[in-house]
Amino acid sequence: MQSSLVRFDLGIRAGLLLPMKHGKGEVRNQFFIGIKDHYIAEIAPFRENHISACEKFLDLKDQIVLPGLVNAHTHLAMSLFRGFEDDLPFQEWLFDRIFPLEAELVDANFVKVGTRLSALECIRFGTTTVNDMYFFPEATAEVLDQAGMRAIVAKPFIDFVMPDEKHLGVNPIPGRAERFKNFYEKYKNHSRIQPALGPHAPYTCSDELLKQIVELSDEYGVPIHMHVSETKGEVEESIKKYGKRPVKRLHDLGILRENFFAAHMVHVDAEEAKLFSKAGSKVIYNPDSNLKLSSGIAPIAEYRRENILVALGTDGAASNNDLSMFGAMDLGTKLQKVSNHNNTAMVALDALNLATYEGARALGLGNKIGSLEVGKCADLISVRMDYPHVKPLYSVLSQLVYAYQGLEVDTVICDGKILLEKGVHQTLNAESIYSDVEKMRHLIKRV
Ligand SMILES: [Zn+2]
Repeated sequence: MQSSLVRFDLGIRAGLLLPMKHGKGEVRNQFFIGIKDHYIAEIAPFRENHISACEKFLDLKDQIVLPGLVNAHTHLAMSLFRGFEDDLPFQEWLFDRIFPLEAELVDANFVKVGTRLSALECIRFGTTTVNDMYFFPEATAEVLDQAGMRAIVAKPFIDFVMPDEKHLGVNPIPGRAERFKNFYEKYKNHSRIQPALGPHAPYTCSDELLKQIVELSDEYGVPIHMHVSETKGEVEESIKKYGKRPVKRLHDLGILRENFFAAHMVHVDAEEAKLFSKAGSKVIYNPDSNLKLSSGIAPIAEYRRENILVALGTDGAASNNDLSMFGAMDLGTKLQKVSNHNNTAMVALDALNLATYEGARALGLGNKIGSLEVGKCADLISVRMDYPHVKPLYSVLSQLVYAYQGLEVDTVICDGKILLEKGVHQTLNAESIYSDVEKMRHLIKRV
């Protein structure tokens, strides 16, 4: 029975607390976080009597507690293609291998199995929020909801008939707006899952399709998530076909807006960056994917100087090959240092910002998550400190970005609910997911 002294559903003692409030990297010692009804209700120096004020109390006195990480660009179901078609040229990888494989294999069950595997990995690596784009978004949203994660789930749009439209008859394309409406209606009031529009990329979307996206975004007030200027070839093709570079074309079509999230933005000229900044659109930096597919290095330090908000992502597991935001923070920071020939072009605090405070703001979630503050949603993680590669500890920021790898994550809480406790999943059954993945592996191998 609850005593009247119990004021919190869940309480945590943090040995070291990195709240990322206002994007600052201040660290506090031995702090208490009290959670009530999904929200952070108290943050204060820890006292012994905090323990009895909590229905459940987690003593993380030897751990670092920080906001849940935000992975701003994923195709979760693609984890089933992890390592399957590596080391091919980008055009061949996407058009000759991935697209045909998807056309042949992807159905709602495929998406559920792949998304479950990815949710398992995201949670294990301390990610509480994802910004996803993939076929069968209804299946993705359902799995993420069950896993207890927070997500923006974009319904994809592309010039050709997609795997989730194959069963809809001869020409399913005109019915897309209606199907988006159904998806929107289902999730518009959900506390953790938010619907979005996902036009795949400028090179796979006609002007006509992009005009439809603008109309739908205006009508429903939902964000647009798109791959933009990922490769040099994409820019050259755009100039040949439309007489302009991709970002300029998107600007002229009226698609650039505050809730436009552009993944990659590797090949962008100064005029385009200005147009993008003026529109208040956001960049999603995917360092691992950009390197693995030899796309290039996005000028992130420059974008941030132009006051463009930047979020950080892993991209799908087929082009990374893992979903660790710790890996993305480490690599993303080092790439900016080397491409700018300047060791301070991006520092550890910048990386943590992209993965938490700034990333959340970029995705329009800054009032809910991204930092640990009273009144915000209780999305937080802890990492253990008893490993050789994270000792000795001089700087929490340096250690998290340059030394931690992800598996040190011990506790994950999203919306006040524990998803991982002492490294053990609380909402997903790993063994049954691995068994489903194994069945799917045999299926994929045969194609
Ligand atoms: Zn992508």
